Amino acid sequence: MTTFSDLALDPRVLTAVQEAGYETPTPIQAQAIPHALAGRDVLGIAQTGTGKTASFTLPMITLLGRGRAKARMPRSLVLAPTRELAAQVAENFDTYAKHTKLTKALLIGGVAFGEQDKLIDRGVDVLIATPGRLLDHHERGKLLLTGVQIMVVDEADRMLDMGFIPDIERIFQLTPPGRQTLFFSATMAPEIERITKTFLKDPAKIEVARQATASTTIDQQLIAFTPSRKDRSFAEKRAVLRALIRAEGEGCTNAIIFCNRKMDVDVVAKSLKQHGFNAAPIHGDLDQSVRTRTLDGFRDGSVTLLVASDVAARGLDIPSVSHVFNFDVPSHPEDYVHRIGRTGRAGRKGRAFTIATPSDDKYLAAIESLVKMPIPRGEVPAFEVSDSPRETGRDDRRGKDRDRRSGRDRNRDRPARDRAEAPVSVPVAVAEVAAPAAAPARDDRPRREDRPDRLREDRPREDRRRDDRRRDDPPVVGMGDHVPDFLLRSFRLKIDMSADLAETAAAEDQPADQSAAD
Ligand code: AMP
Repeated sequence: MTTFSDLALDPRVLTAVQEAGYETPTPIQAQAIPHALAGRDVLGIAQTGTGKTASFTLPMITLLGRGRAKARMPRSLVLAPTRELAAQVAENFDTYAKHTKLTKALLIGGVAFGEQDKLIDRGVDVLIATPGRLLDHHERGKLLLTGVQIMVVDEADRMLDMGFIPDIERIFQLTPPGRQTLFFSATMAPEIERITKTFLKDPAKIEVARQATASTTIDQQLIAFTPSRKDRSFAEKRAVLRALIRAEGEGCTNAIIFCNRKMDVDVVAKSLKQHGFNAAPIHGDLDQSVRTRTLDGFRDGSVTLLVASDVAARGLDIPSVSHVFNFDVPSHPEDYVHRIGRTGRAGRKGRAFTIATPSDDKYLAAIESLVKMPIPRGEVPAFEVSDSPRETGRDDRRGKDRDRRSGRDRNRDRPARDRAEAPVSVPVAVAEVAAPAAAPARDDRPRREDRPDRLREDRPREDRRRDDRRRDDPPVVGMGDHVPDFLLRSFRLKIDMSADLAETAAAEDQPADQSAAD
């Protein structure tokens, strides 16, 4: 078996690795590091959790050990799709490079340009960035990419989802052709294959097992039930979620709860809090400082339930998450794998519950086809719906029951007994869950390429750059402390400037059905 000392890494890196407590390299590390150290391009097909970050960081630090940074000309570049992932790579870099004198800068939206400019002016060895912010710096003439010797693209499949591929192509073109490229993606969509063919030179192709096939430490359960009424589905799912968390008792030390839509992330978090749980939301519309604080709280245990959207939680490395709850069945089967992979990490046991109603059958079949096994059916816990509309600011009366023109709530005129304000015990109807085997034909499944955020790529690049810039500007705040409720509602047209995740806002807002229909 390969050991770290077989890998010809800089002794200072080896010391740091030892101090991190790693005993043996993971398969992606054992296979990628020798090629990377030999100066070869690497195409790594690996998901988060496989140790892929160290598989490019360790050889980079070793290779950059010689040489010196020049002002405004970073010697290496790591591109990550989200701020959180970029920050995580930066943290990894700090850990592994702590015995060297290498310098780094993190260029992400939501952070003032001034500080970042100063670092770049001084010269950095490693630049870790999200694509939009990097191009902004470049366009402002503050950054030259002609000195980049090593370029890493991390989570290329998520870059594709977020419409960043044209930006990545542009960045490739701004770096010297002689650079070394280390390129990582969980999947190889045709668009990604095209990029690798264009920009990688005879790469060493390394593929490691998908997380789903290796996730033997995760106990998965599908909690399928039929809501008593369609319009009560949302409230009843919240009640089921509470019952599941309570049933897990002290075993549930912390958990990530995934919702398909940002709007639901907020409502579910608020609802849990109202029921006495220690919960906080995280999604791309929240201000960066709030997201960072929430994540820090989740890491240090002061927040125990993190209610999240896929994008916000994607790739986050928090080793000791005891549970994952899928409040919604994800409409993209790969997201199921990513979500449950947040638990059962580093050899620990984890539990993953997925709440499903009959309308999820199609997505469930796609997931079971992808993971090549049925998700074991769990028992639906007895649950009690006690949500009042006041509790969450929103109840099940989506769409139809709300008078769109006047914004008036029609249910207000209904007899009180029809309104779910008092606790209501709901008889549990266990759904007849579709037999898992019948997987839909590949073409029937919602395809990533069809997602609405793809449209971004069809727009002229200048338009997109303008959008990116707008998102990176500081948010405009007005009206003193008072913000009327209606302004807090989510709108389809984003003028939110807080996140480089805003491309995904449209996707996060899409109801699962609609996203599939699109
Ligand atoms: P990644 O796939 O890069 O997100 O890494 C997943 C987790 O594995 C992180 O917590 C790393 O600190 C950890 N890790 C990376 N390499 C090793 C290793 N060789 N042995 C043990 N843990 C590791």
